[in-house]
Formats: sequence, C-alpha cells, structure tokens
Amino acid sequence: SDTIRVGIAGYGNLGRGALAALARCPDMRLAGVFTRRDPTSLRLPDPATPVLPLDEAAAHRDDIDVMILCGGSKDDLPDQGPELARSFTTVDSYDTHARIPRYFEAIDAAARAHGNLSIIAVGWDPGLFSINRLMGEAILPAGATHTFWGKGLSQGHSDAIRRVPGVRAGVQYTIPVPEAVARVRAGEQPSLSPREKHRRECLVVLEPGADARAVEQAIVAMPDYFADYDTTVRFIDEATLAREHAGMPHGGFVIRSGQTASAERQTMEFSLKLDSNPAFTSSVLVAYARAAWRMKAAGETGARTVFDVAPGLLSPRSPEALRQALL
Ligand code: NAP
Repeated sequence: SDTIRVGIAGYGNLGRGALAALARCPDMRLAGVFTRRDPTSLRLPDPATPVLPLDEAAAHRDDIDVMILCGGSKDDLPDQGPELARSFTTVDSYDTHARIPRYFEAIDAAARAHGNLSIIAVGWDPGLFSINRLMGEAILPAGATHTFWGKGLSQGHSDAIRRVPGVRAGVQYTIPVPEAVARVRAGEQPSLSPREKHRRECLVVLEPGADARAVEQAIVAMPDYFADYDTTVRFIDEATLAREHAGMPHGGFVIRSGQTASAERQTMEFSLKLDSNPAFTSSVLVAYARAAWRMKAAGETGARTVFDVAPGLLSPRSPEALRQALL
C-alpha cells in the first residue's frame, strides 16, 4: 500500500503530540518511536508500537518513509538533525531563529550527500508565522510587520525563574500589550520597544522560608529575560500551580499593515490561540511530513523550509479535489 510510514525520533511533548496527530491521518501510519532512553522505559498508548534505540535508527531506513524529529532545538537537533538526514527524509521544528541559516547548511549537506530531503524549522514560529510574514511583505511591500506572542507559556523564561534561589517551581506567561496590538491593527505602524509590545507574568511557588521580596527583585531585574519588560510576580501554592498551570497554552498574531498606490490602508492578520503549543506544533510537523514524502518521491533532495513547500502538498486530498473544494 502507499500509506506513508512515519518514524518519531524523540518522545517528549512533541513526540507524544506527533503520535496523536498521526492517529487522525489515515494516509499515514506510525512505524516506530526512537529514543535515547531505555525503550522499555517508555509507556506508549498502544503497547504494540515498536520502540527502538535511536542510535540504531539507520538500520530501519527501509521501513520508514519520513522521520519526524522531536528533539529539543538547543541540545538535540544540532546533532540529531544532520545525523538522521543521512538516512531518512526528515521534518523538524528547529526554532533557534538566529542559528537557522547554519542549521540549514548542515542539514542540506547531509541530506544532499545521501539523496534525502529534509524540511527544517516547521511549526508555528518558525513555521506558519514565517509564511505569513513573507506573504505580508510580498503583497504589501510598503508597510510594516508586527509579531506578537501569547498569551502563552514560555519554556525558556519559566526555566530562568526556576533557577532563582528560593524558587521551588514556577511558570512564566508572555502577554501581548492590548494597546500595542490595537495600534498595529489600526494601521498606525508604530515603532514599539520590547516593553511596549509584551508584558511578562510570573507565577512562583516559594521554597519554605524563602524571602518573597528578594525573589521578586531577582526575577524582575534579571537581564535579557525580564529587565526590559514590565514583569509581575505572583506567589501561588504548589496545588494551584499543578491544577491551573500544567498546560502549555500559546499563540499570537502576525499583522502586516501597509498602503497600496493611493494610500489606502490594507491590513493582513494571522492569529493562533492554542490550548497546547506542542500538540499544535506536532500537528504542523505531521502535515509537513506528508509534503516531505511527496517531494522526496518527486526526486527532490537537500534541505527546505516552509518557504519552499507548496501548500497543496500538505493536504491528503488530490489537487483536483482541492481545486473543487477549497479554491
Ligand atoms: P521535550 O519534551 O523536552 O523533549 C525533547 C527530548 O527530550 C525528547 O525528544 C526526548 O528524547 C527527551 N525527553 C522527553 N521527556 C523526557 C523525560 N521525561 N526524561 C528524559 N528525556 C526526555 O521538548 P518538546 O516540548 O517536545 O519540544 C521540542 C522542541 O520543539 C523545542 O526545543 C522547541 O525548539 C521546538 N518547538 C518548536 C516550535 C515551533 O513553532 N517551531 C514550537 C514549539 C516547540 P529521547 O526520547 O531521545 O529521550
């Protein structure tokens, strides 16, 4: 059959999300999960799913059409990406924006040398937001693009809070400033500082006996993370944290406002409101896995980004069906 056989490399939040997303795609099936941990230590929803050691993945290259890379951008993908691109058609959600060009080169060399195709930096930002920034610029060359993130949980800022002495646990939400969003939507094209665009809200569980004042000061003054923002710190108990802040919501807006010849105002907006960032991101990865498989089947090799993938390739429907139903 021509069901697309998919592998998942790394079983964290994205890996679990990819598994769930594949179950909703009848044209694809999960062929195996690969992990650096002891495979018997993972608990998958279906105990019959093969779980295999990641370092033996290459031996399974003939059983897998596309490998979805679900490792972390900071420490996992810089090694796993080029390594797996030697043996598989891959998609990943590499999101360290400043290093994407270098990562692209490494993946491109590995994929090209071995006749494979890899789509990198797939997800929502980078990913769907990037496409919308490109469309805004291309269609309205006279104008300005603003990206707002949130309300959402930022993993990096949450980690930073947890490193402050006296903090037992905590999360950080990034929140767009409503007045700034309103000015951008109105077509003002304002120039906005970081503080004017987003504020940061920290919910913190203290260690017993910790000094709340000192913890708050240490957080709001932290350079790079909080000092350039209006940051609020609220103290909560562990049960509230577990009950109300265990999810990973996120989202945001890409807004392009511009002018056409006669100075008419034109505004384009794309927005996301996500209950679960990783579940959504992995759903995007699964759609791009379908496209990667088709591009590889058409003979393409090397690295690609979302800018290079035609939208129709993401859909399980035929081009004829798409023209009839969605055009
Ligand atoms: P994560 O849960 O920390 O998982 C990363 C890796 O850590 C997994 O592949 C897994 O590898 C290992 N791991 C997971 N749980 C573990 C545990 N309990 N014990 C030991 N190891 C464990 O990260 P994530 O939330 O899936 O996110 C992955 C990346 O996605 C992020 O780094 C981010 O860059 C990216 N992302 C991109 C976008 C976008 O829009 N482009 C959006 C969201 C996230 P093994 O199975 O091999 O151990």
